[in-house]
Amino acid sequence: MAISVQIPTALRQYAGNRDTVELDGNTVGEVLGRLSETYPELKTHLFNDNGSLRNFVNVYVNDDDIRYLRKNETEVRDGDVITIVPAVAGGGASGENTAARVKGESQDGVTLSKEEIERYSRHLIIPEVAVTGQKKLKNSSVLVIGTGGLGSPVSLYLAAAGIGKIGLVDFDVVDYTNLQRQIIHTTADVGRPKLDSAREGIQEINPYVEVETYETYLSSDNAMGILEPYDVVIDGTDNFPTRYLVNDACVLLGKPNAYGSIFRFEGQASVFWAEKGPCYRCLYPEPPPPGLVPSCAEGGVLGILRGMIGVVQANEAVKLILGIGEPLIGRLLLYNALNMSFRELKLQKDPECPICGQNPTVDKLIDYQQFCGIGTEEDTVHLEPDELIRAEELKALLESGKPITIIDVREPHEYEICHLPDAILIPPNEVEKRVGELDRDAHIVAHCRVGPRSAQAVKFLREAGFKKVQNLVGGIIAWSDEVDPSMPKY
Ligand SMILES: [Zn+2]
Repeated sequence: MAISVQIPTALRQYAGNRDTVELDGNTVGEVLGRLSETYPELKTHLFNDNGSLRNFVNVYVNDDDIRYLRKNETEVRDGDVITIVPAVAGGGASGENTAARVKGESQDGVTLSKEEIERYSRHLIIPEVAVTGQKKLKNSSVLVIGTGGLGSPVSLYLAAAGIGKIGLVDFDVVDYTNLQRQIIHTTADVGRPKLDSAREGIQEINPYVEVETYETYLSSDNAMGILEPYDVVIDGTDNFPTRYLVNDACVLLGKPNAYGSIFRFEGQASVFWAEKGPCYRCLYPEPPPPGLVPSCAEGGVLGILRGMIGVVQANEAVKLILGIGEPLIGRLLLYNALNMSFRELKLQKDPECPICGQNPTVDKLIDYQQFCGIGTEEDTVHLEPDELIRAEELKALLESGKPITIIDVREPHEYEICHLPDAILIPPNEVEKRVGELDRDAHIVAHCRVGPRSAQAVKFLREAGFKKVQNLVGGIIAWSDEVDPSMPKY
């Protein structure tokens, strides 16, 4: 027997691709110390320079957060399970008598037509919903932020359930890569604004729903105004700045936030409602630095997983409106689609939370791009103009017969989807150790999917003394757009 440490998907690449590591130790600190000795690359992802756990990494022993036990000194015994729960990009329970309900929930003056009674009949015969509950749903409003992989199933089920008003925030256009999971949009919708196809999808299911659309990027300037009229907010975002923005606006407005997030095969869900329990910042006071946690566009996601988590969010919204059951307040649901396992971790309100704690330091919305370190110097590798090459220039060079070494700085499974002829595959984490395979005097062009990973490689090779290394601007996607439309895009 030993202590099992569960490694989340996002960090497995630094732990020999293992999902569980068995180690010995008497305290959490000892076990994690041994873990980072065994996997040195993992260390920088778990600990900061002072050796303390990073703020966007939470550690649980069995179901309890070690911040509320004895932190690193928390004792562990044979058979205990230590779970590492990092923030994922890509969102105190009570019984029925004290169930959390949204403010202003009522059914005064609301009537159901004969058609509506028939439509909702399977709700009406559940005693916990009944006519009273259905009228509450009709009199309620839910704001869905993002009509992507989470927002799609959420909106469809909320529409079917008879929510009176659904607000949708998005500014994107449907593309082919969306269709694997964003089920409110169809093949015929490719190229259309997502808000148009989402509105139609909702109204085809239920014409009694009022749909309000906001074709905008949610920002600190508009968030309070957009969220204010709604009873429940659904966080269907896929990036950290918007996630913190939604959290903070909900805390400041006193709104419940049905949160969900996903990565590859793992999902998280909770209800953050600062008046009744913890908020997202209580769970993760700070976002991870840019680039540390891959987005779904970079890391991929199982489409169906979005549905699983989105349906949990929709279910929580309906419970909050009806005031029934035990909402996911103070609980973090972890779902693993490969094992088909659900786990639940306890969440506590952090008295030191900067926005919902006892002495909050955040009393208005801030600059979330800056808070998440996006747009600052360190997240983008700066390359000089002579270190960049456009797809058409590369094509001309190749056609001229000049010798060029192309290195493909992506993962093997991406190479399998599409690659340039004669490109040498060198995944990002192998660039350093395979540097000896390359000729320092050769003209090298590096590329990845859209550019950032190969930019790192270009910088590294230049610093290692290579004479002429260039980054393909826009990566293989630009090659497909500008040179060879037969190259598949993903
Ligand atoms: Zn908080």
